[in-house]
Amino acid sequence: MENNLPVQTNFIREIINEDIKNNKNDGRVQTRFPPEPNGYLHIGHAKSICLNFGIARDYRGLCNLRFDDTNPIKEDIEYVESIIEDVRWLGFDWDDRLYYASDYFEKMYELAIQLIKKGKAYVDSSTSEEIKNQKGTPTEAGVHSPYRERSIEENLKLFEGMKSGKYEDGTHTLRAKIDMSSPNMHLRDPVIYRIKRATHHRTEDKWCIYPMYDYAHPISDWIEGITHSICTLEFEIHRPLYDWFLIELCLPNRPQQIEFARLNLSYTVMSKRKLLELVEEKHVSGWDDPRMPTISGLRRRGYTPESIRNFADKIGVSKRDSMTDVALLEYSIREDLNKRVQRVMAVLNPLKITITNYPDDKTEELDAINNPEDPSAGKRVLFFSKEIFIECEDFLENPPKKYHRLFPGGEVRLKYAYIIKCNEVVKDDSGEITELRCTYDPETRSGTCSTRKVKGTIHWISADNSIEAEVRLYDRLFITEDPLADPEKDFKEFLNPESLKILNTCRLEKGLTGSKPGDKFQFERQGYFCVDPLSNDKRLVFNRTAALRDSWAKLEKSL
Ligand code: ATP
Ligand code: MG
Repeated sequence: MENNLPVQTNFIREIINEDIKNNKNDGRVQTRFPPEPNGYLHIGHAKSICLNFGIARDYRGLCNLRFDDTNPIKEDIEYVESIIEDVRWLGFDWDDRLYYASDYFEKMYELAIQLIKKGKAYVDSSTSEEIKNQKGTPTEAGVHSPYRERSIEENLKLFEGMKSGKYEDGTHTLRAKIDMSSPNMHLRDPVIYRIKRATHHRTEDKWCIYPMYDYAHPISDWIEGITHSICTLEFEIHRPLYDWFLIELCLPNRPQQIEFARLNLSYTVMSKRKLLELVEEKHVSGWDDPRMPTISGLRRRGYTPESIRNFADKIGVSKRDSMTDVALLEYSIREDLNKRVQRVMAVLNPLKITITNYPDDKTEELDAINNPEDPSAGKRVLFFSKEIFIECEDFLENPPKKYHRLFPGGEVRLKYAYIIKCNEVVKDDSGEITELRCTYDPETRSGTCSTRKVKGTIHWISADNSIEAEVRLYDRLFITEDPLADPEKDFKEFLNPESLKILNTCRLEKGLTGSKPGDKFQFERQGYFCVDPLSNDKRLVFNRTAALRDSWAKLEKSL
C-alpha cells in the first residue's frame, strides 16, 4: 500500500497515509457518509460523498451509507429513498453496508446505562429553559443543576422510567456529567437523551426517548468500525465531546473525527432548511426543480455524475471556509458535455424566412457534423427547403456597424447550407416582423468548392422538417453572490425573478423525434439541453443545462 498511495492528495489523505504507515487500525480505512433524512441531498453533500467514497475507493477501504435518523420529527422515508437514489446515481456503492443510527438505539441505551453506572451521566428534571440558564456564557462558568448529584440508583430508575414512557415529554433529560465551567460550552453537561413522543419512520412508536446527535454519532461510528469520521468544520468544537464519550465508555479502536471546510457556492443557498422553505413556499416546483442545487435538481437540469465528481475533484478539500464560484460547476458540465453530446440545430425564437428563388417543392439533403470534438460521432442529414426558420435575434432591421448577422440588404451563411441575402421585411399591422423574404446563392453550398465568404454564420431549421418543442431556460436562482450575507434580510428577497423563461414555439431538427427523457444535446450556438425527465407533455420539453459560455462573466466584465 505505501508505495501505491493515491496521486491526488489533501490534508485528510495525509492523515490517513500517516495512520497507515503507523499501522493504526491495522491499516484499515473505513469512512461513512451520514446524511440526516430531513431533506434532499445538495451539491455540498456531493462534496462529502465524493470525499468519503473516494477515500474508500483509493485506499481499498470501505465507505458506509448511514442514515443519521435520530430526530423523528423532521425525518421522512421520502428523503431516505431520494438519498439512496442520489448517492447511487453519483456512482458510488456501499454493498450491504446501508445502516441507520436508529438500528443502534438499543446499544446506545445500554451504553448510556454504563455512563450512569460510572457516575458520568445523570437524569436532570430541569426544564429546557432552566438547563439553558445553567449553561452560563462563553466568558462565564455555568452552574450545577440541582439534580446533578442524584445517586446512581436513582438515575438508573429514572432513566428506565423515561424509556418506559412514565414521564411527559420534556420533563426529564439525561445529561453527561462533564464540566460546567469548561471553556468549551459543548462540554457543560450536554443533554444526551430527551423524551419525545414522536413516531419514527423506522422504529415507529417503540421509543419515546431519542439520543442527541453528539452522543449518537461517535457511538454509531464506533459500532460500524469507522476509522476516519469526516465531517464539516462546525463540528470541530464538538470533537472533545465526541472523544469524551468513546473514552469514558472505554471503547477500543476509537474512530478519529476529522473536519474539513464545507462547500459554499456563490448565487446559491445550500442549507436543507432553506431549501425546504423554497419548496414549501413554492418559489420552486419541488426539491428537484432544475434551479435547485440539489442532486435531483442538477440531474433533471442535465448534469452528469461525471461532471459533479470532476467538480468535487477540482474544488479539493481544505480546512478554511471559502466561497466557490458557481461558474466552476457550470464549467464542469460544459467540459463534460462538450466532449460527448451531439450537436443539433434548434431555433428557440423562430423567425420565418421564405427563400424566394428556391423551388417550391424541392428538399435538399445536407451533411451536418455531429460533434467536431469527436469524429467517431459521425454525420447526419439536414433538410433544406423553401421555408426555414432562423433565430429572431439573428436579424436586426437597423444593425450597428460590424453586425455580422442578417439585416436588410445583408448576407449571412446558413450553417451547412447556403449564403442568403435579405431583400424584404414583412410586418403585421402592429409593426411586428413576421417574415423575411430572402434569396439564396446556389453557388455557395457548404462543402462544395465555393470560394465566396461572408462574415457571419447562423443556425437555422427547415420548416417542413422540424418539430415544435418547449424549451425552459434556467438561470441562477439568486441575483446576489451571497444571498445570506445580510442576516437582517430574508434571503428570498434576492431570488432572481428571471430564473426561468419558458419558450413555447421552439423548432428542432426532426431527427430529435423520439428522444428519451434525460437525452442530452448541444443546440448549436445556444448551449446544452436535456429532455426533461419528468414532463408529461406530448411535445418534447427541454431544460437548458448550461449556456455555451458564462453569460454572467461577460456581463460583469462589461459593467
Ligand atoms: P445542511 O446544513 O445543508 O442542512 P447538514 O450538514 O445538516 O446539511 P447532513 O445530512 O447532516 O446535512 O449532512 C450529511 C453529511 O454531509 C455531513 O457529514 C455533513 O458534514 C456533509 N455536508 C453537509 N453540507 C455540506 C457542504 N455544504 N459541504 C460539504 N459537506 C457537507
Ligand atoms: Mg446535520
